[in-house]
Amino acid sequence: MAEYDYDLFVIGAGSGGVRAARLAAISGARVAVAEEHRVGGTCVIRGCVPKKFMVYASEYASHFKTAKAYGWTLGEPSFDWSAFLAEKDKEIARLSGIYVTNLQNAGAELVHAKARLLDAHTVELVGKDRTVTAEKILIATGGRPWLPRGLEGIEHVITSDEAFHLERLPKRMVIAGGGYIAVEFACIFKGLGVDVTLVHRGPNILRGFDDHVRAHLAEEMEKKGINVLLGSQHEKVEKTASGLVSHLTGGARVEADVVLFALGREAYVEGLGLEKAGVELTDGAIAVDAYSRTNVANIWAVGDVTNRINLTPVAIREGAAFAQTEFYGNPTTFDHEMVASAVFSQPAIGAVGMSEAEARHAGHKVDIYLSRFRAMKNTFAGGDERALIKLVVEQGSERILGCHVVAPDGPEIIQMAAIALKMGVTKPQWDATCAVHPTLAEELVTMREKHVPQELGAAA
Ligand code: NDP
Repeated sequence: MAEYDYDLFVIGAGSGGVRAARLAAISGARVAVAEEHRVGGTCVIRGCVPKKFMVYASEYASHFKTAKAYGWTLGEPSFDWSAFLAEKDKEIARLSGIYVTNLQNAGAELVHAKARLLDAHTVELVGKDRTVTAEKILIATGGRPWLPRGLEGIEHVITSDEAFHLERLPKRMVIAGGGYIAVEFACIFKGLGVDVTLVHRGPNILRGFDDHVRAHLAEEMEKKGINVLLGSQHEKVEKTASGLVSHLTGGARVEADVVLFALGREAYVEGLGLEKAGVELTDGAIAVDAYSRTNVANIWAVGDVTNRINLTPVAIREGAAFAQTEFYGNPTTFDHEMVASAVFSQPAIGAVGMSEAEARHAGHKVDIYLSRFRAMKNTFAGGDERALIKLVVEQGSERILGCHVVAPDGPEIIQMAAIALKMGVTKPQWDATCAVHPTLAEELVTMREKHVPQELGAAA
């Protein structure tokens, strides 16, 4: 008789949990996965994937404008929010179904229930009247939106979770925050015809990104008609007969139909019974070592619940590294250095490596290569959207420390640049690469003039 019911019990069927569960099950281990919501996690159900569909939907507004310049005659375009939502939900259901099938095909058992630890090896399946034991436990419960619960009127605001299911497309929207989610939704809803005001407490949006990129995107968003209020935050949200009113610092008031708060996310550890198993937290997230092992020898955690780099591909790699280590006898850690990221704003951002400010703060002497230009598709159509490309190069070694692209295909471009930067590419090697013409990305390998740095200020 086996000592435990399962070799591995995974809590959370999102990107990280599913990858780990599948790999472990394929190795022959007896694996179960508990999920209290829908299979697929934040990315598939209420994050990256539905967000990207909304980005695609919203981009048509500018495509229609450009189309006219290219000789197309169109009727008056109109957008049907309900029809879009129905199609989006169909596709999300299909993808969630694929996750379920993949788990089943790998031989993992799926349990639809919230799992709560009773001790380091025992899991209660809440509402199922069932308790199971497992030799190893992996926690992959992800994160959830954080809200300032004490703010007056907070009950009137929505988070990104609800933004995917709004009954009607609002006419006016206030979005609080200056991070990934706030910026992406501001661009999405503006593209869909909503009057959007972005309220951010800092001196510029997207703290942590390169200062040129931040300033460039804020300018492009304002050019598109998004009202960007910096150095401002909510003091209360009031419900009135005609909608909602955001009362901001300094006495400003902005009326809206929907107020969306995107002020960061927190690790989803509530009700997991971590204290019963003795699992320690750090800053509200599960503390883990390089192998994703917690302070309890048979419990691991991967993905957003550990608050390392909160990106889907990172969770997947952490989950895979855990499975390699524990079920394939191949000790593996995921290297969190040089992870590229993308912001699906309009124009979008792709970034890998250090910002100029980060490089300077780390003591590197750097040369900067910077180009701002209108892409040929735009120049033809009379559009004024500009792209930005920037390289941060270490003097002496000529190693490229950072690459930053703001352009419609910025995320696609940065995926390839990330390979070279991860390999430690130098500027001469980069420049030896022949351009692909005519493309926007060719600008990356044709920048020869060093930019004279303007003091944009240290990263806030
Ligand atoms: P972020 O951490 O990116 O941004 C949070 C924003 O809220 C910041 O602008 C922050 O300001 C502001 N903020 C935080 N606390 C307060 C407060 N008390 N009052 C006012 N403003 C506040 O979080 P998001 O919610 O946008 O996204 C969460 C994470 O999800 C991201 O960090 C990313 O890892 C992931 N994500 C990735 C995406 C992608 O890959 N494209 C898309 C969406 C999410 P300040 O800068 O001043 O701290």
